[in-house]
Amino acid sequence: TVKTRFAPSPTGYLHVGGARTALYSWLFAQANQGDFVLRIEDTDLERSTQPAIDAIMDGMNWLNLSWNEGPYYQTKRFDRYKALIQQLLDEGKAYKCFCTSAELDAMREAQMQAGEAARYNGMWRDRSDHPTDKPFVIRFKNPLEGSVTFDDKIRGKIEIGNKELDDLIIQRSDGSPTYNFCVVVDDWDMGITHVIRGEDHINNTPRQINILNALGAPIPTYAHVSMILGDDGKKLSKRHGAVSVMQYRDDGFLPEALLNYLVRLGWSHGDQEVFSIKEMTALFKLEDINKAASAFNTEKLIWLNQHYLKSLPVERLKDELQWHLDDQQLNTTQGANLDQVIKAQADRVKTLKELVEISRYFFEDFTDFDANAAKKHLRPVAKTALQTVQAKLALLENWQADDIQAAINETATELEVGMGKVGMPLRVAVTGAGNSPSLDVTLNLIGREKTLERIDLAIN
Ligand code: GLU
Repeated sequence: TVKTRFAPSPTGYLHVGGARTALYSWLFAQANQGDFVLRIEDTDLERSTQPAIDAIMDGMNWLNLSWNEGPYYQTKRFDRYKALIQQLLDEGKAYKCFCTSAELDAMREAQMQAGEAARYNGMWRDRSDHPTDKPFVIRFKNPLEGSVTFDDKIRGKIEIGNKELDDLIIQRSDGSPTYNFCVVVDDWDMGITHVIRGEDHINNTPRQINILNALGAPIPTYAHVSMILGDDGKKLSKRHGAVSVMQYRDDGFLPEALLNYLVRLGWSHGDQEVFSIKEMTALFKLEDINKAASAFNTEKLIWLNQHYLKSLPVERLKDELQWHLDDQQLNTTQGANLDQVIKAQADRVKTLKELVEISRYFFEDFTDFDANAAKKHLRPVAKTALQTVQAKLALLENWQADDIQAAINETATELEVGMGKVGMPLRVAVTGAGNSPSLDVTLNLIGREKTLERIDLAIN
């Protein structure tokens, strides 16, 4: 059965590139009724932090990319790595190297002089005259002849001559195992069938395959996903704005929109743009991942966010909205009905953040009118219109949209003015500004008492 993994190094937040890799791994597992493993690659003790581990999991949880296994931590598996390193030593497939850094520098220097690529020359590969009191690293005996071939699901057949690979350090002089070795052991022990990861790891793959072979482990299928570029064609970075997944949450994006955006960033199914998680899962194939790098396009992400704001059930929007209500300290337990406000506003905004920003007047009184709107619409001539409509609204038998609209219409007819001459002053009076959903809906939600009270304030 299929088993994939996401294996972040916890040195920072979950960024969009990592999230996309995680999504592809997750989707592939889902699509094949397989399992998805989360593995924290925390062997770099200097750079790995607990806040980063938390941040990565927060991001995955927010996106709902749930793992069936893990999280595993590499730092908890050192005994296993060491045992296998000893096994390779015993079998003559690895060896101790006592080179000093001065010797390595000299080696590199000489190779550069000779116009060769700098690489370890294997000088301790076959020696047995080991000093007893010198520090050493342990190197893997890479095959000298032949080549490594693998069929990358995205890039096709890749072949590297063993002559290009030197003997990789698998254990440092302090006794700690190195990154490439831990990955190999983990992928084997965890039964990973498909390694889906960033193309920045493609050069590690032939080395990892050689080590897997030496251990007698099966070789997983590999798929190396291209980079994400900014809109200027450079590798996506902070310079391009938000790159942390949680920053997108903070900015008011829905997980549905970000996932849909990320899946399309480098994968396609015909020219379809909108995919529910269910559809992605049904349609996802590694072969349909694009080889070329993809450029991040915030406009498209916004477009998708608007699509999901319009189409997701209110209950779902409400779940996601809560964080923004707390963040902007808007108390919605009093005032208008939150569900109805969401319904009225969701197709008028780009983000949830904006939805909260423009919905304050439904839940609390405002202290100032928007200066431009007031200047334009609350002039003395508007007073009659406001008084007239207020009187009619006060007398309505039922406070419902139809009747509210009728009161506004009647006011305009009676005063022989256009609808705007009544509507706009009324809108500014009750909302404080010139933008709101249609007046009947807005007033209905604000309620009669508040509406009349706010008109009073605007008139006086
Ligand atoms: N820990 C590596 C990274 O964060 C990923 C290694 C892998 O997927 O094999 O870049």
